[in-house]
Amino acid sequence: MRRVLVLGGGFAGVEASIYLRKQEIEVTLVSDRDYFYIYPTSIWIPTGEVTKEDVSVPLDQLAMKHGFQLIVDPVAKLEASEKKVTLLSGRVLDDFEYIVVALGQDKMQHKGLEHTLSICSKPEEATALYEKLDKLILKDNGKIAMGFGGNPKDTSAVRGGPAFEVLFNVHNFLKKKGIRDNFELTFFAPMEKPGQKMGDKALVMMDKMFGMTNIKKKVGSKITTFVEDGIEFEDGTKIESDLTMFISAGTGHSILMESGLPLSEAGFVVTNEYNEIENFEGVYAIGDSASLMGPEWRAKQGHVAEVMARNVAYNINSKIENIDSKYSYKEHLNILCVMDTGDGAAFVYRDNKGGKMIPLPIIGHWMKKGWGWYCRNSKLGKIPRIPGM
Ligand SMILES: Cc1cc2nc3c(=O)[nH]c(=O)nc-3n(C[C@H](O)[C@H](O)[C@H](O)COP(=O)(O)OP(=O)(O)OC[C@H]3O[C@@H](n4cnc5c(N)ncnc54)[C@H](O)[C@@H]3O)c2cc1C
Repeated sequence: MRRVLVLGGGFAGVEASIYLRKQEIEVTLVSDRDYFYIYPTSIWIPTGEVTKEDVSVPLDQLAMKHGFQLIVDPVAKLEASEKKVTLLSGRVLDDFEYIVVALGQDKMQHKGLEHTLSICSKPEEATALYEKLDKLILKDNGKIAMGFGGNPKDTSAVRGGPAFEVLFNVHNFLKKKGIRDNFELTFFAPMEKPGQKMGDKALVMMDKMFGMTNIKKKVGSKITTFVEDGIEFEDGTKIESDLTMFISAGTGHSILMESGLPLSEAGFVVTNEYNEIENFEGVYAIGDSASLMGPEWRAKQGHVAEVMARNVAYNINSKIENIDSKYSYKEHLNILCVMDTGDGAAFVYRDNKGGKMIPLPIIGHWMKKGWGWYCRNSKLGKIPRIPGM
C-alpha cells in the first residue's frame, strides 16, 4: 500500500506535498498541467510586465527537490469511498492509504461568457488578454470593461481583487504610454457594493481611486448577457466594450460532483476544521475545493489553502504515528492581500475585528514583486521559508 495521493498541483496540492515530504511520508502528486502557476502575480501578464513562464514553476523541479512522485495526467474520475482515481489516460490509482483533494474550483457559467476573458481562469486566458490589449493599443483607442460576478450560494467563492488589480494596472500602463485619454475604462459588478468584504473604509477608498483614475463604475444590476461588443444588464443598460475581462465566481470542481463526497450547495467539499470528511476516513479536501467555514466575509485565498495544506500534512502524520493532535484552519481565517495598482499597491486586511486598507504608493508594487520571487525560490528550496509565509 502506498501512502498519500495528492490531486492537484496548485497552492494547496504543492504545499501539502512539500510538508508531507518534510515528515518523510511517501507522496504522489497528480496534476493536469506540468507547472505550478502563481496566480497572484499573473495579474501583470495582460500588461506584458511578466509572461506566463515567469509565474510558472515546473512541477518536475519541485518533485525532484522535495522527493515526491509526479504524474502529469488529468484526473477523470474520483470514487472517494474506494479511494480510487481514474486518470484521463485510463490509468487507475487505487493503492493509496490517503487522498488529499486539492483540485481548485470551476467557474460559474453565464450567458455569452465566450465573449470575455478572465485572469482567474486557465493561464492561457491571461496571455490572450495581453494579446487583445496589445491590438487595441496598436489601434490607439478603445473601450475596456473589467468586473466580477457573485455566487449567491457561496460568497467565499467570489474573487474581486484581481479585477481591481488588472484594471488599475491597465490604467497606469496606458498612462505611461501617454494614450490613456484615448481609452474608456469601466468597472462593473452586479452587486450593490462590490468589494464589501474588505470593509466600508475600503469601499470609500476604491471609489476615490476610480474617481482619480477616471474609471467609470457600473454596479447594482444583474448581468443579462455578454455580447461581442459589450455587456448587457437587467436594467436595460449596456456597457460598450472592445475588451471585456470578467471573473466569474467559483463553483465546485466538476470531478467532485460524481465523487460521492459530501458537497455544499455550491459544490464544494464539506469538511471539518481539520479538513477531514465525515465517513471518508483518510480522504481530505483542502484549498479552493473545500467548502470554507467561518464568517460571512471569509474568502477562498492562497494563504488559507496553504494553511490547510500544512495542517493536513501534520494531521496525516499524527494519524500514522498514533499521536492525538490535530491542527485546525479556523483561527487562521483572514483576508490578506497586497492589491497592486501598477504604480503602488494597497495592503488589504480583514478579520473579525473589521477591515483595513492601507495605501502603499510605489513600495507596495515592489513588495508584491518581491513576494512572487520569494514564492518561487522558497518553494524550489533555493531560499529558506519565512514561518507562516
Ligand atoms: C488572479 C488571481 C490573483 C489572486 N491573488 C491572491 C492574493 O493576492 N492572495 C491570496 O491569498 N490569494 C489570491 N488568489 C487566490 C489563490 O490563488 C487561490 O485561492 C489558490 O490558487 C487556491 O489554491 P488551490 O491549490 O486550492 O487551487 P488552484 O491554485 O486553482 O490549484 C488547483 C490545481 O488543480 C489542478 N487541476 C484542476 N483540475 C484537475 C484535474 N482534473 N486533474 C488534475 N489536476 C487538476 C490545476 O491545474 C491546478 O494546478 C488569487 C487568485 C487569482 C486567480
